[in-house]
Amino acid sequence: MLDLHTHLIGHQDRPANQKNMKDYLEAAQRAGLKEFGFADHDMYFKELDLPLIREVAKAYPELNVRVGLEVDYRAEDEGKIKNLLQSFDFDYVIGSVHEIQNWLFDYPEEAEKHRKMEPDQLYISYFSLVEKAARSHLFTTIGHFDLIKLFGVRPRTDVRELAEKAINAIAENGLVAELNTAGRYKPIGEFYPEEKLIREMVNHGIDFTLGSDAHEAKLVGRDLKEGIRFLKSCGVKRLISFQQKQKLTFPLD
Ligand SMILES: [Zn+2]
Ligand SMILES: [Zn+2]
Repeated sequence: MLDLHTHLIGHQDRPANQKNMKDYLEAAQRAGLKEFGFADHDMYFKELDLPLIREVAKAYPELNVRVGLEVDYRAEDEGKIKNLLQSFDFDYVIGSVHEIQNWLFDYPEEAEKHRKMEPDQLYISYFSLVEKAARSHLFTTIGHFDLIKLFGVRPRTDVRELAEKAINAIAENGLVAELNTAGRYKPIGEFYPEEKLIREMVNHGIDFTLGSDAHEAKLVGRDLKEGIRFLKSCGVKRLISFQQKQKLTFPLD
């Protein structure tokens, strides 16, 4: 089992030191993980200590520790993101859309605004950015593919239709999607992405990885066993991890 979406420092809740790294790695072992990855938010890049992760990981030889980053995708920042990603030898990079035209839409206080917007338009704006992220050649992975649903607003049109171009972009660029279990703890109360999107992605040949999106050590691996069962029920046959951007395949039996 694997968990490639965890945040060592959360939202700057704690420092990137050895003690915190160990707390996460020990939680990963307790959760029975074989592959574990840190993917902190790029906005805290200066506070991270990525070489120290590689050092600390040596004390856990039975755990494959990967170093990733979760990048806030903004189309106008592609150049900046490219430069940032060249500054470390990342195993993988998650591209996530948390922002539509300077609107940070996933903060709890934004729920009301979601409900006031025309739902199809909300989804179209979001997925058009996901499509751009997938075509940017910056990422290995697309984070929480249908995050825009978090406050419970559903589109009028079939979501597969609204997501079609983004799904094609992921497939054409060989990116991996993630089953992210954190959605269950948002108002929507379900994993990202929803079942019909996973099935559509499987039909397009898209592979999946797993992420708890843990912002604290105790949440590492949360609901991932159930996540695996869910993926299998949607036709997913294998999971993907990364080592220096190369895909590692783990068949699901
Ligand atoms: Zn995210
Ligand atoms: Zn995250």
